Amino acid sequence: MKNRNQVFDNVLDLVGNTPLVKLNKIASKFKGNFYAKVESFNPGHSSKDRIALYIIEEAEKKGILSPGDTIIETTSGNTGFSIAMVSIIKGYDCVLAVSSKSSPDKIDMLKTMGAKVYVCPAHVSADDPRSYYEVAKRLHSEIKGSVYINQYFNQLNIDAHYKSTGPEIWEQTEGKITHLLACSGTGGTISGTAKYLKEQNPDIQVIGVDAFGSVIKKYHETREFDEKEIYPYRIEGLGKNLIPTATDFDVIDEFVKVTDEDSAHTARLIAKTEGMFVGYTSGAVTQALLQLGEEGRFKKGDNVVVIFPDHGARYMSKVYSDKWMNEQGFFDSVNEAAAQNIQY
Ligand code: PMP
Repeated sequence: MKNRNQVFDNVLDLVGNTPLVKLNKIASKFKGNFYAKVESFNPGHSSKDRIALYIIEEAEKKGILSPGDTIIETTSGNTGFSIAMVSIIKGYDCVLAVSSKSSPDKIDMLKTMGAKVYVCPAHVSADDPRSYYEVAKRLHSEIKGSVYINQYFNQLNIDAHYKSTGPEIWEQTEGKITHLLACSGTGGTISGTAKYLKEQNPDIQVIGVDAFGSVIKKYHETREFDEKEIYPYRIEGLGKNLIPTATDFDVIDEFVKVTDEDSAHTARLIAKTEGMFVGYTSGAVTQALLQLGEEGRFKKGDNVVVIFPDHGARYMSKVYSDKWMNEQGFFDSVNEAAAQNIQY
């Protein structure tokens, strides 16, 4: 492992080894110690750097990829950015099939990082040949020597965190971690990290964070897919309307649901209390921590680790915009928005 006092060969050498930072104020009324694993310290500013680099390097080891080949994925989010970054350094073409719902900013960001972006209509079913899933599959079958990352259904997504995030947290807490809280989207982060940690100490409590409007929590409890759970929500990267095979439900003890509104306010509170500018799901995982704290779930001596998946800069037009907050009904009035800023 390199430390930061030396020269790095390229940005990929900076993937992983993110800091664990004590949360000093936001949960101070609860017993226990609280820490955040701050994934925005990755060079692509999110935890997805880990899976992009790991999955691509595994394909290289298997001889599936050689320079000039193509890497395909279906996301305009953090994973797309990370794959584009890894592709630049390693000399691959990066092709991203994204939904027309993606913001122009996001699409520009991916293009800036050298990706070829196919914008596909959002309002067609997943099996429509125009959908971004089908476009990605078609490109994968047409482009010789291409790799389709398919993060929701790729076991290597779990392995990436099993091999890096888990051991890092174990070492950083000197084996004293008692609780892990993480948002579950693909489920790769929580599953891989939890699998490693539970192998070291099976008593560690692993709590996944899910959105209202997602099927994940109910599936964990019943092992049944309940369509009635599904409705639109605003947080991106958390929860799902399908069951990803990149989630290992057996290593997760329970799921907690959080609302869009509470998560947004908590994300803003993290900035105001801890001086950390983090993404919407960092607000969600901290909101879950606060909910469990209110239930008296933590005791003196507990060491609770939450994962902050990405940076706040990607949410300037959403959670960190008073206008957006007001439009969602998260503030009663713009004046209240202003008042909120002073209050914290
Ligand atoms: N937060 C954000 C912002 C994300 O982009 C993701 C990934 N979809 C997650 C949390 C959840 O991570 P995972 O996919 O590993 O469950």
